[in-house]
Amino acid sequence: MADRLTPAQRSAHMAQIKRSDTRPEKIVRSLLHSLGYRFRIQLKGVPGRPDVAFPKRRVVIMIHGCFWHAHGCPLSNTPKTRIEFWANKFRANKERDARLQTAAEAAGWRCVTIWECETHDRKALVQRLQGELGPQRCQSFQRDTLESGR
Ligand SMILES: [Zn+2]
Repeated sequence: MADRLTPAQRSAHMAQIKRSDTRPEKIVRSLLHSLGYRFRIQLKGVPGRPDVAFPKRRVVIMIHGCFWHAHGCPLSNTPKTRIEFWANKFRANKERDARLQTAAEAAGWRCVTIWECETHDRKALVQRLQGELGPQRCQSFQRDTLESGR
């Protein structure tokens, strides 16, 4: 028999395609933009070229797909076939995540990880991002200006 995907492999594959179409990075970036934050994408000089970087705040946001980064949530169900292959793959991805985070932190960046499943709740995601980043610069600038003008 020629090599063919088993139904389980195919459904894992299809699920992955569907997930990549939802593009969690895109969701986070457009939300940040609509909140008025200015950021850089894949900034050179930061270990791992993180998805989103705030150079003045020295904060990077790493956006992880739940499947590939083995989040352990319902989106990250492990395929039932080629178990060892997937276990190695997920372990390698998680090790890489940890290594890049350590390197970024050593270079003075604070790392915030946003998981794909967090992007499904827009309201909670807004609160999370604002909590991590603080007020966006325009608002704080206006507030400072108003206060000093009194
Ligand atoms: Zn998740």
